[in-house]
Amino acid sequence: MPASPAARPDAIRRHNLSLVLDHIHRDGALTRAQLTQRLEVSRSTMGALVADLIELGLVDEVVPTGGSGVGRPSHVVGPHASGPYVVAVDIDVTQIITAAVGIGGALLTRHVVPTGPEASSPGQVAGIVAESVDQVSKDTGRNRPPLGIGISLPGTVDRWSGRVAVAPNLDWHDVAFGALLGQLLPSGMRVSVGNDADVAVLAEHRRGGVRDVDDVVFLLGRIGVGAGIISGGRPLRGFDGYAGEIGHNVVDATGPPCHCGKAGCVETYIGEGALLRLAGRPEPPSDDVTAAIFADARRGDAAALAAVRGVSESLGRALASLVNTLNPQRVMLGGYLSELLDIARPEIELALKDYALDAPGRNVQLMHPSFGADSALLGAAELAFAELLADPLTTTGALPA
Ligand SMILES: [Zn+2]
Repeated sequence: MPASPAARPDAIRRHNLSLVLDHIHRDGALTRAQLTQRLEVSRSTMGALVADLIELGLVDEVVPTGGSGVGRPSHVVGPHASGPYVVAVDIDVTQIITAAVGIGGALLTRHVVPTGPEASSPGQVAGIVAESVDQVSKDTGRNRPPLGIGISLPGTVDRWSGRVAVAPNLDWHDVAFGALLGQLLPSGMRVSVGNDADVAVLAEHRRGGVRDVDDVVFLLGRIGVGAGIISGGRPLRGFDGYAGEIGHNVVDATGPPCHCGKAGCVETYIGEGALLRLAGRPEPPSDDVTAAIFADARRGDAAALAAVRGVSESLGRALASLVNTLNPQRVMLGGYLSELLDIARPEIELALKDYALDAPGRNVQLMHPSFGADSALLGAAELAFAELLADPLTTTGALPA
């Protein structure tokens, strides 16, 4: 086996540029002194790296003025105020949110299109997304196209081909959504597609409330329910990329019918449809109806409270399975489950305690997503930023010096 060649200075420079930009993307503005310390390089090396990133139009540097301290204040390096951006898209059953996102996760512009079963075919959704991408790009006022498009959607995504294997609540089966969308966008625009819960946990782990936590489950509950998992500090995806579909674990084959074609899936007990069913409101799920049930429960309405308690018990049981299987340190509850946690934390925790084995369940903490309802959206932005952060020189089209 031939020995690997030593890293050339050019490769080291690329690697270090990637590291500096990644630190700024994850943590926001940092002083040169902080960056120097984090990368363990000399001050002059850091000076050259920052100069490169300024040249590439990716960061700005400001020299703090004033201050009564001894010595010169360290320069502060932050994302360039009018630098590159990506477009992130959060496709859900009831709405499509599109946003332009800058380095550091800054939400620049946002566009929301309500949808429903009448506009949920892959072609219709791609059409809405393409128009929205154009709209939010113009709204940035930056007069340049986005670096790439990141898509979050409620389905399993093949990690090798990027095809959507199945999105039960959209009724999609084996859809090359990235390619379909690409045909409607200016040529050459990169599109990355990910599962909503997978990208939500990615955003929270890279830049959010669990950045220092190695074992995390993000349970996203909307119409559908799925889990994004970080295990040992790395995304747990499985061979094809389909891991985490706990919403379709069957707990009772004689239970309510599920969109996936089976019956008695976890989703039919803890998804938004379950809350509506238990509250005796058989409308198609919508954010308004769910909000009305929560409002009634907060007022003490008996039927709404019973529905909330019923779903909480089932949620605690589902969490117990996750805790027994994965032993996470934190579990984030996103989507409508976040509000359920607000109203019924004691009931959820009691059911979790009752159904999880004592030892692995002991340390788990349930928490709200730090990005509120935007975790999946910001995770989609992470997908789109990945290439730039891995190699700022090549992605910005700059030639190595
Ligand atoms: Zn199912």
